[in-house]
Order: sequence, then C-alpha cells, then structure tokens
Amino acid sequence: MKIWLDGNLVDESEAKISVFDHGLLYGDGVFEGIRFYNGRIFRLEEHIRRLFDSSRAILLNLPWTQEEVCKFTCETVAANGLRDGYIRLVVTRGAGELGLNPHLCPKPSMFIIASTIKLYPDEHYQNGLAIITCATRRPAPAALMPQVKSLNYLNNIMAKVEAIQSNALEAVMLNEQGYVAECTGDNLFILKNGALITPLISEGALDGITRAVLIELAAKIGVPFVERSLTRYDIYTADECFLTGTAAEVIPVVSLDRRIIGDGKPGPLTRRFLEAYHELVNSTGTPF
Ligand code: PMP
Repeated sequence: MKIWLDGNLVDESEAKISVFDHGLLYGDGVFEGIRFYNGRIFRLEEHIRRLFDSSRAILLNLPWTQEEVCKFTCETVAANGLRDGYIRLVVTRGAGELGLNPHLCPKPSMFIIASTIKLYPDEHYQNGLAIITCATRRPAPAALMPQVKSLNYLNNIMAKVEAIQSNALEAVMLNEQGYVAECTGDNLFILKNGALITPLISEGALDGITRAVLIELAAKIGVPFVERSLTRYDIYTADECFLTGTAAEVIPVVSLDRRIIGDGKPGPLTRRFLEAYHELVNSTGTPF
C-alpha cells in the first residue's frame, strides 16, 4: 500500500510519524474520512473544504491549497489501484517540544491512506440496527467546537465502549442539556408524520457531509425537512430512524434502548433515502 506523507507517496512500511508529533501527544490535529465509488471520489471538495475549516478553527495553517490537497488525494487513490474504498486524510500539528504550545511545532504533517472500510455487517442495512443511549455526554460546544473534525475522539470512543458492552453497534449521545446530539460516528435522523428531522449542529453534532447530502435528497424527493432539538422521546415515538456517515452511508435504526421504533423494520422513507443515496454516490464524484 502506498501512503501519501508530507509530499511523497511512500511504502506503508516507511510511512512514519514522530513520537513528538502533537497529533499523537495531544490529539492536536484534524482529519477527514472520504469515500470513493466506481473510480470517483464522492463529495471530495466538500470534505477538503471542511478539512480546511477545521484546520483554520484550530489555528493550524496548511501549506497547501484546497486544490492541491484534492489532487494529492486523487493521486493516492490512483497509486493504490482501487476503484471503491475509503480515504483517511489526517493533518497533525507536527513534531514539536513537549508541552501544549502549538507554536513550538514548526511544520504540520499530512498523510493520506486509501484503503477500504466496513462499519456494519450487511444484514443491518436490511434489518436495521438496535442502538442504545449512552451515559457519556457530548462535550459542550463551548468546550470543543462540534464542527471541528479533530483527532480528539476519546469522548466518542468511551461512548462506543458503552455501546459494545450493551451488545449494540452504536450509541446515541446526548448533550449536557439532555438533547440528542448524534451517535459516536454518525449523524441521526428521524421521520415523523412524513417530515425528516435532525438535531441542530449547535446541539453538539458534527456537520456531516452525508447529513448535508440527506438534506439535499429530502428536497429532491419532496420530504419536508426540519432541523430542531430532539429528545429521546422523539426517537422513541418516531415513525422511522436512521444514521448517516461517510463510512456507514445510510443505515436504518429499528430500536433504541430496546424500545421498538415504528414497526421495528426499516421504514419506507428510510429505504427511499438509502436507494437515492446509493444512486447518487454511484453516479457522481471527482474522477481520479
Ligand atoms: N459524527 C461523527 C462524530 C463522526 O465521526 C462522523 C464521521 N464518521 C459523522 C458524524 C458523519 O459525518 P460525515 O457524513 O461527514 O462522514
């Protein structure tokens, strides 16, 4: 496997990062997960724009333009001879002194991995996921900006551990006020009385690229869309529920905390969104 690392495509065995890199020491960095289908990268420009926004928000200046990073990403995928797969693009603060001061890290590092990913077994796309609410809360937006896709995933990992210990594959994370924010690696949507509803980003959700695609699809299909605060009550009493993410795509949810949602099967609108999403990812994107 060829990895793009700081300007060069190198062998996997040579792709190494310093133990003094603040990405490793403090989770000081940002990343993107991007998917490609049929030789085309889906929503590449949107992902790179979010990467640059995340970097800017943490005062990490990238020495490349967005166009250059798009080009490096395409080159990495092409170098690995893949047609379908998953890209992990990581920017770290770079190597520096011990101590938090990011100004003592002279040069950020970037690496790009083109590989594959499978989050959930196929049967769950057919039959839906059973998820739980976890006790681990999302950090307040004033503590950690939810739009920044940072390398600090310990909060999500602790929530994921709760899910695994309850035999669930995902967990709903609430914010400090008790409103639904998102899941550990996916955004959450419900359908109620024919409308598509998702929590506001300000409740502590990542501004997901797939989330934005679903909002577009709702307009295209003619499903009214609402962004508002949700509590667990809204999920328990929803007609349908699903999660979205680059890796997960669109996956139905059929129960929360062992309470059946709707009739306990992936609903008709969820199926329509799932189909429309697959159609879109297979017919659009940046060729590499
Ligand atoms: N929320 C979190 C916490 C995530 O890590 C992700 C990405 N895996 C998402 C939501 C979904 O975002 P996107 O659609 O941009 O992949």
